[in-house]
Amino acid sequence: MISRQIFNFVKSKIPKLSSTELIALKSGNTSLDRQILQGKVSLPKQFKFENKFPANKFNELFKTFDGSKIYPNDNNNYWVDYLAKNKYFSFLINEDYGGIKLSVNELSNMLTKIASLDPALGVVAMVPNSLGPGELLTHYGTEEQKNKYLPGLADGTYVPCFGLTGPNNGSDATGNIDEGEIVLINNKPMIKVTLNKRYITLAPVANLMGIAFNLKDPNNILNKEGITVALVERSHDGLIQDTHHNPLNAGFPNGTIKGSFLIDPSQVIGGEKNIGHGWKMLMECLSAGRGISLPATANASSKCAAFGTLNYVKVREQFKMPLANMQAIQEKVNNIFFNTWIIQSSVALTNTILDNKNSPAVISAIMKQQTTERGREVLKDAMDIYGGAAICVGYNNFLEKFYRAAPIGITVEGANILTRSLIIFGQGLNKSHPYIFPILDSVLNNDNKSFNKEFSNIVRHSLNLYYQTFNLSNLLPFVPKLLEKQIIDFAALTNFVALKGGLLKRDQILSGTMADIFSNLYLALSVEYYHKQNGASKKLTDYIIERLLNNNQVLINEVIDNLGPEKYLLCHLKNKTVSRSYYNETQIFKEILNNSNIHDEIKKNIHIDNNILGDMERINKLDKSTPEYIELKNKIINVDEYNNAN
Ligand SMILES: Cc1cc2nc3c(=O)[nH]c(=O)nc-3n(C[C@H](O)[C@H](O)[C@H](O)COP(=O)(O)OP(=O)(O)OC[C@H]3O[C@@H](n4cnc5c(N)ncnc54)[C@H](O)[C@@H]3O)c2cc1C
Repeated sequence: MISRQIFNFVKSKIPKLSSTELIALKSGNTSLDRQILQGKVSLPKQFKFENKFPANKFNELFKTFDGSKIYPNDNNNYWVDYLAKNKYFSFLINEDYGGIKLSVNELSNMLTKIASLDPALGVVAMVPNSLGPGELLTHYGTEEQKNKYLPGLADGTYVPCFGLTGPNNGSDATGNIDEGEIVLINNKPMIKVTLNKRYITLAPVANLMGIAFNLKDPNNILNKEGITVALVERSHDGLIQDTHHNPLNAGFPNGTIKGSFLIDPSQVIGGEKNIGHGWKMLMECLSAGRGISLPATANASSKCAAFGTLNYVKVREQFKMPLANMQAIQEKVNNIFFNTWIIQSSVALTNTILDNKNSPAVISAIMKQQTTERGREVLKDAMDIYGGAAICVGYNNFLEKFYRAAPIGITVEGANILTRSLIIFGQGLNKSHPYIFPILDSVLNNDNKSFNKEFSNIVRHSLNLYYQTFNLSNLLPFVPKLLEKQIIDFAALTNFVALKGGLLKRDQILSGTMADIFSNLYLALSVEYYHKQNGASKKLTDYIIERLLNNNQVLINEVIDNLGPEKYLLCHLKNKTVSRSYYNETQIFKEILNNSNIHDEIKKNIHIDNNILGDMERINKLDKSTPEYIELKNKIINVDEYNNAN
């Protein structure tokens, strides 16, 4: 009787879930995100991998790239063609079909380096190697479809793109999406679609389109409906691909796919049986994919910005001293290294998690939002330091191309506001928490028996965690580090916030703040992981982790203050934050300036050769009193000049 009352109470609290949300929840798996919510984490071992892509071929790209615009261009799409023909679009495709299937680590390193050379080229390399025809065919294609398309995708005969978005479906990807209908033509079932897609990356140059639409079957011809993904080739009768957008002059192909035409159901990825399964297919692929390409882009821009800025402040002088001697500059450089180190560490940890065959949806969402957001911060600080040289385009400006590309990562694959305030903690709670989804599932299935079991599990789990937050040993100097304690505090706090149930969808400030705490814990663990692997600087590692945890304490205090009466049970989790020590900031800057291990890590996987970053690297090795130094210094502080218009 009591258990039935609890069941009904919980039922009234749980959020209403649409079928698309339910699919998103069931896609992918969990990893450290679940361990954080369990209050105890163990970091994975470093993943050992061997590079498969030939080094000489990779180097050739960097030697021959002439910096010309990728799109639009006056060279017949030379660079898109170059990447396609040299197998750069084949990294998710198995060797059986002619691809070079890479480990996530190698893929991420390569994408980082290509994006550091040119972010537009990076975008072109990324799209075929993330969610799109290649990946969808690999996972869901029929044997016939795989044989027909994968070899062509691997050798660059096909250039793919993937079209979901339209004028009326942006963040709400499946609401008001393009529609199709099953019709009979000469007694054969056919799909009649009307497309109006925009923002599609590579569409202007693609000749194989993955398109998503909502398929209706009003006459019950196949008795199948729902979000469906099909392939169409450029030559398809009625398909219109004749306009493009200009995303901030960033210079990569992005455009529209339109038209009303017929598609044979055999063109549905996976065939007729996969009609209506499109959203599931997309979510399953996205649960891993979001964690690779966009973080690699943010890693590239942040590393280049950090490397360039640190070297510039040593060379550039004002008020008869190098910028590096000014505390206000040091403060900004520290911020740049703080965020860049976080990005590169979290990329390393996430690559390892993904290479261990996980597809953690919540961690991928954290990576997408945090790395792109922090990448933008890094660029903002670096632009401020580089001053006028950051504003004027030319040889010396190593920042502007990244600055123009930064908003792309923020917006695509789940715009950041939505990802932070709805997905990471809001949906993540259901996904990552060890007991919430099983409870949800039992309620949705009206399964009182398994509800009772799961409910007693969650009560036990919550009481145990709550008890641990009082553990006096936490106060003793030899026991847990602050990070471990904060993980327990956060896991306990989560159980209280979870009581809000469906209201969390509305309480987006709370959900977003919990997402930040969750993310910061994952990032702090990443920085610890990175230090274990590379041991570059204990000082910098401790500084970053302490800063993240201090930021978190502010947020934890804020969340508790905003809760209802339950806040009184959580008073002991509110702690004083540590004031920033100005002396420590100067010491950290010295560490960043002088520790060559830090420089070596920052330089990994970015292109520093025949460019301004290469010049900056060279000047470090010269004696300040030599003419070579003076000459190179003048080159580094130069800003390109152009003839006036008559
Ligand atoms: C350069 C570029 C490349 C792209 N490439 C592709 C591609 O290859 N294929 C493809 O299919 N699509 C692509 N897109 C589309 C991209 O995924 C969408 O732009 C994105 O989903 C956001 O949609 P929107 O721009 O219409 O913003 P909107 O959906 O209008 O959102 C506006 C703002 O509101 C926020 N928001 C929306 N809903 C909520 C909510 N419930 N709660 C809180 N905040 C919310 C969003 O976070 C965003 O900040 C691309 C877009 C761009 C700009």
